[in-house]
Amino acid sequence: MKKAYIIATGTELLTGSTLDTNSVYLAQRLDDLGIKVVGKSVVGDTRDFIKKALLTGLETADLVIATGGLGPTLDDLTKEVACEVMQVKMELIDEELERLKEFFARRNRPMPEANKKQAMFPKEAVRLRNGVGTAPGMYLKQNGKVLILLPGPPQEMTLMFEQEAVPLLVREWGLSIGKAERKRINIFGLGESQVEEKIADIIKNPRGVSIALLAKEGEVHIRLTAEGEDKEASKEIMNRMVKEIEERLGSYIYGYDDETLPLAVARLAQKRKCTMAFAESCTGGLLSKMITDLPGSSEYFWGGVVTYSNEAKQKILGVNAETLARYGAVSEETAREMLRGVLSLAGADIGAAITGIAGPGGGSETKPVGLVYIAAGSKEYNQVKKFNFTGNRIIIRTLAAKTALNLIRQ
Ligand code: ATP
Ligand code: MG
Repeated sequence: MKKAYIIATGTELLTGSTLDTNSVYLAQRLDDLGIKVVGKSVVGDTRDFIKKALLTGLETADLVIATGGLGPTLDDLTKEVACEVMQVKMELIDEELERLKEFFARRNRPMPEANKKQAMFPKEAVRLRNGVGTAPGMYLKQNGKVLILLPGPPQEMTLMFEQEAVPLLVREWGLSIGKAERKRINIFGLGESQVEEKIADIIKNPRGVSIALLAKEGEVHIRLTAEGEDKEASKEIMNRMVKEIEERLGSYIYGYDDETLPLAVARLAQKRKCTMAFAESCTGGLLSKMITDLPGSSEYFWGGVVTYSNEAKQKILGVNAETLARYGAVSEETAREMLRGVLSLAGADIGAAITGIAGPGGGSETKPVGLVYIAAGSKEYNQVKKFNFTGNRIIIRTLAAKTALNLIRQ
């Protein structure tokens, strides 16, 4: 597997005034192409730091991609420093100069003298066309290593990378675009360390397959990549590992690859040809949003009601005043009555009801912030579960909505 090192240059990235999205984009795309990103640097527009980053990249990876600093101004140094490191000389390329002149002529502007430096290139390099701005990029191969320089503006960078750099890389290394041999297993309901514990022996014995765990918003994703030299054999080992992991984690697995929790629930509803309805209190419609974010959800989603106040719970869902008075709005009983209410209101097959305390205020000793009751299922078969989520308001609401989806799925 080829290795890559990414360098984002620009002082604005260090002061925090610009978010370095370029290296995130490149990291994802290189990953898609089956190139392993082994390191990243963010450096200011300073000769020394750019040089150090380039040297580190060239020492540790087969491919070094730097973005930014290809402009005409004095702080645009990347190309100059890169040529120094690669020990190649720049010269004025007439064709590039003409192209620049044309660029300005079309806009009825005189070409500033400073832009001339954008037409300076080493003859050993391939120049990458800039479909948007003035700065061409550079592709230079030397001693089996490839160095790519891309402009800083994200729109220019992505276009040049996709249209100019990727085809060259594919040709250079015979990459199969799009599908590196990989599988992602998506889990809900277990923490990262619990997942790790269950599959520790598999992780410890990777057999040419790299395994990474990623925890996010109550989910854990296990990512497997077949990295062995023998592609077919490596893929077979990976598929076997996926089976082993399935055996260990069972129904905690809700999907694979890009499948999200709402999508898993939607697929289930479509398969069983059933309709869904939700009653939400503390999530304020988030659960309905997650489902309606999916195009075509009208096929199985009746709708949802947000019953935030006790009065709404009573008037819309028919929750008993006595239940509310006796157990409170955040209780197992209220959740159950909310579910019953929305199912009869909608005439839907399955549903979910959420009631809880998202905080930061409103908690008490017996009912702390993060306490959420979720009811899910059909009229005949349903369950109510109690959860104690931790985190801020956004996290508690997200976890509650996702947990409801997960309960519907089960
Ligand atoms: P220009 O000709 O525009 O000067 P350049 O190649 O010299 O192009 P920079 O000067 O480094 O690029 O950056 C131009 C703009 O691109 C920055 O102001 C910033 O908004 C954006 N930019 C640069 N680097 C990044 C990055 N890593 N992620 C996101 N945006 C970036
Ligand atoms: Mg610049």
